[in-house]
Amino acid sequence: MPATYVYLDHNASSPLRPAAFDAMVETLRAGGNPSSVHRSGRRARSIVDKARRQVAALIGALPAEVVFTSGGTEANALALAGAQATRVIASAVEHDSVRRARPDAETIPVDGNGVVDLAALERMLAAAAAPALVSVMFANNETGVLQPIGEVVRLARGAGALVHCDAVQGAGKAPVDVHGLGVDFISLSAHKLGGPAGVGALCVRSGASLVPDRRGGGQEFNRRAGTENVAGIAGFGAAAEAAVDGLAVGALRDHLETSLLAFAPGSKVFGAEALRLSNTSCISMPGVPAETQVMSLDLAGVGVSAGAACSSGKVQRSAVLAAMGVAAAEGDTAIRVSLGWNSSFEDIERLIAAWRDLYIRVGYSDIKRAQAA
Ligand code: PLP
Repeated sequence: MPATYVYLDHNASSPLRPAAFDAMVETLRAGGNPSSVHRSGRRARSIVDKARRQVAALIGALPAEVVFTSGGTEANALALAGAQATRVIASAVEHDSVRRARPDAETIPVDGNGVVDLAALERMLAAAAAPALVSVMFANNETGVLQPIGEVVRLARGAGALVHCDAVQGAGKAPVDVHGLGVDFISLSAHKLGGPAGVGALCVRSGASLVPDRRGGGQEFNRRAGTENVAGIAGFGAAAEAAVDGLAVGALRDHLETSLLAFAPGSKVFGAEALRLSNTSCISMPGVPAETQVMSLDLAGVGVSAGAACSSGKVQRSAVLAAMGVAAAEGDTAIRVSLGWNSSFEDIERLIAAWRDLYIRVGYSDIKRAQAA
């Protein structure tokens, strides 16, 4: 087992940034309930207010537009229920937390690169008069493919529809500007950008109406009842501030893809012809199941993931690749490599070396055997 472990699964969860860790420890020590009027409560309130400004600054929102939640899943559920739309239209590549929140949603197809079909969206919007909520993600968790949110908003506005954008994978990696995009609701998650898991936010454009999904105290401007997770929120704020310039890992990702494709010309990068996040690569190793790759790379000291790992950790066939028209046999050989704030050139070299070893041992030899037979 190599001495150091290389973690390249930041889209699953990015390690806690030191600034987030420090902010959390300090807040845990201080304690307090932000709703209390005494000194301890006021201190906790000021920590939440600071984090709200930090998170708002990350996406160009007003602090009062930020509603803290327990994560991206809750932010998505709150938007999809709280917008009170009778009709929801969501892309085929949305995260399960969107798809399952509204199983009745109509599906916008995507092209071979995973980009939403705008003409199809336009037809769908024109097809019925009922008020619609359009939900399209900023960037895909498996492929990193970016969606044309500005165009989605333009079409939706023309049809009088609202827009929700799941920016859980985009924020802190690429520039996200809520008002520039013109969306009504945008979801964020702290642990995808180096904050703690279990905290996120829904940003609600001023003037947009949101019906809360629970009753209780009047926290979060009466939009999300429940005593705030102050330490988590402090960590989220610190991570958001540290992530404000995005990730500068595009050269590393490109080096990875160029090296693997040169070594195994039969491998493929999914979504390669679309605009993508600079940190994500969804790449196949011909003939080698993704699960075998993930386990072998793990033994070699490199952590990556296979398709969409669900909560049980079981690897499922990727619905994202299927929506892109990728054949199951090819999709099943795709792994996701996702870089983050602490990724280095050495990390990528370790992955390249381990991936090549595996390909020589399993993939290449299988191909040769099949050719010889
Ligand atoms: N949306 C996307 C695109 C995601 O990738 C994820 C997590 O993988 C979520 C939502 C859910 O976020 P959370 O883990 O904070 O609930």
